[in-house]
Amino acid sequence: MKKLKGLFMALILLLIASTQYQLPASAKQTKKVEIPVLLYHVVKPDPDPNNPYQFSLEEFEKHMAYLHENGYRTLTMKQYFNILDKKAAMPKKPILLTFDDNSNDFYPYVYPVLQKYGMKATQFTVSTWVDGSWNMTSNELLTVMENGIDIQNHSVTHPALADLSREQQYTEINEATKFLKDLTGKTTNTFAYPYGSYNADTISVLEELGFKGAFKVGGGISTDQSNRYELPRIMILQEHTLDDFVRMVETGY
Ligand SMILES: [Zn+2]
Repeated sequence: MKKLKGLFMALILLLIASTQYQLPASAKQTKKVEIPVLLYHVVKPDPDPNNPYQFSLEEFEKHMAYLHENGYRTLTMKQYFNILDKKAAMPKKPILLTFDDNSNDFYPYVYPVLQKYGMKATQFTVSTWVDGSWNMTSNELLTVMENGIDIQNHSVTHPALADLSREQQYTEINEATKFLKDLTGKTTNTFAYPYGSYNADTISVLEELGFKGAFKVGGGISTDQSNRYELPRIMILQEHTLDDFVRMVETGY
C-alpha cells in the first residue's frame, strides 16, 4: 500500500512537471504580434524650445542606447510587414523606427547614431522637399538608403490630405511615388499621412496604387490586427523624458 502511494505521488509530480514544461511552449505559440512604431521629426543638438516636434540629439542617443541595451531589434519596412502578415517569425522585441519630412538634421546627427548600433529605420520623404533649404540632399538620401534606411512616401507637398479631392490626393501620392522611383530606383509601397490627415478617399487611392499600408499618428502599438491603412505610431515630442519613452515603447501611450 505504501509502495502504491509512493508511485501515485511520483505520477502526480511527473504530471506537474510536464505541465510546467509545456506552459512556456504553448505560451510562445500564441505570442501576440505587437510592434511599436516610433515617430521622430527633427533631431539635433539644439532643438528650438518652442517647437515640440524638434527633439534633442542627446536624448535621442539615450533612446537608441536603451533599445540596444534592452535587446530591441529594429526592422526594415519589409520585415515589419512580413511579421505583421505572419510571413516571418517575430524577433523577441521588434521595433520600427520612422522619421518624417527628410529634414537636414538626419544625415549629420541621426544617421551616425543608427549606424553605431547597426539600426534600421525608415525616412518618410516629401518629394518636393528633396534638396530643399532645410532638407536632405538627393545624395544624402541615396547614401542612407544604401545603409539600412528605407525611403518611403510622404506625399509631394505635405498637405492635409483630408482637405483635398480624391483626384488631388491621387496626384500627391502618385507623383511622389514617381519622383522617388526616379531618384532611388525603388517603388515606395508604404505611406505616412502628413499631419496624420486622411479619409476614405486616401485609403482607396493607396489601395488602387498598390500600397501595402499607411501610418497615422498615435493609436498605441501596432499588431497583426491593425488596419494596414491606419497603422499606429508613437510620436516622440521634445517634452518626453526617458521614463516616458520607456513607457511608450512598452505600452504605446
Ligand atoms: Zn510630415
